[in-house]
Amino acid sequence: MIKPFANKVWLSTPTMHGEELTYMTEAYQTNWMSTIGQNINEVEKLASDYVGTKYAVGLSAGTAALHLAVKLAGVKRGAKVFCSDMTFAATVNPVVYEGGVPVFIDSERETWNMDPVALEKAFSLYPEVKTVIMVHLYGTPGKIEQIKAICDRHGATLIEDAAESLGATYNGKQTGSFGQFNVISFNGNKIITGSSGGMLLTDDEEAANKVRKWSTQSREAAPWYQHEEPGYNYRMSNVIAGVVRGQFPYLGEHIARKKAIYQRYQEGFKGLPVSMNPYIEKEMEPNFWLSCLLVDKDAMCKQARTATEASFEKEPGKTCPTEILEKLAAYNAEGRPIWKPMHMQPIYKDCDFIFVGDTPANEDIFERGLCLPSDITMTIEEQDTVIEIVKSCFK
Ligand SMILES: *Cc1c(COP(=O)(O)O)cnc(C)c1O
Repeated sequence: MIKPFANKVWLSTPTMHGEELTYMTEAYQTNWMSTIGQNINEVEKLASDYVGTKYAVGLSAGTAALHLAVKLAGVKRGAKVFCSDMTFAATVNPVVYEGGVPVFIDSERETWNMDPVALEKAFSLYPEVKTVIMVHLYGTPGKIEQIKAICDRHGATLIEDAAESLGATYNGKQTGSFGQFNVISFNGNKIITGSSGGMLLTDDEEAANKVRKWSTQSREAAPWYQHEEPGYNYRMSNVIAGVVRGQFPYLGEHIARKKAIYQRYQEGFKGLPVSMNPYIEKEMEPNFWLSCLLVDKDAMCKQARTATEASFEKEPGKTCPTEILEKLAAYNAEGRPIWKPMHMQPIYKDCDFIFVGDTPANEDIFERGLCLPSDITMTIEEQDTVIEIVKSCFK
């Protein structure tokens, strides 16, 4: 008999180490409690050195960074933007803030990220498009070199949403360093956190300076508040930066622990009709932010999802994400469905969606996939219990 967890086992929570408090306290004691200070300077340097871009600008959130990246790319009212389809809505919403029109691109099955073949098809349909936003989902790099080459060939600006993939590499190069304007996030559940916060990364000095200006209300150099363009209150707080500064030295350790969790699941699920979120071993090293499960097609029981509810019909030897998620919750563990593709979202139902082949990969991955508890502090025993819970769903 499997016993429910006494303490909830989470999907992904902040993991603190102590130094965060030191730097926050420093901000407090020196009274640099606003959006200027040593923590911001240091953390911008840490991030740009680590990822390998010339500039990093600390902002209030990854979403804010995406918004300013979309502005830098020059997206104007009515302009189409090619976007990853299977992602968190924050990847796409900033396009709409600027009046742009997302066109969603399906994923390939080798990494669950933007399919270069579908992207090429999209350019053949809409050769005028000048901006591409691609995400590295769950910490697994997409086929970024191919995607960058396609963007270059079509003269399009590439924005990388590396919010989930800080520390992941493609052919030894960090995600967040391939696009013209790239985004990382320090939201509470990411691989490292500031409690909130994000950054825009770029090699373009002029762009970095614009982001600094826009994020602090677009003041012109003048003795009074002089404004020539709209501004935003998007700058990172020096207190938040203190948390990020304390976390940065532990990024490698976090990745190692997430990888161990992924590998333990992989081992534990051997023999079950499932697979995990895939990656191309020769080319990429993910940060293993979340471990995900995909139930084999012929092991799926019937599952139905309306706009707001899920149900399933139990069949012996078969299961589905809805059953696994319900069972995890019953045992006091947190899982999550795969990000519901943007082209299936009511808000984006009128947007075009480009895929190759007979059926979209993303609808299938959404149907059969889920995120498992991937919290860094999960013990081996707790993880083994999660594995047992999953196994029991196939009874
Ligand atoms: C978390 C996340 C964001 C947004 O970052 P915030 O810092 O929460 O605003 C953007 N894109 C993806 C893929 C994310 O997971």
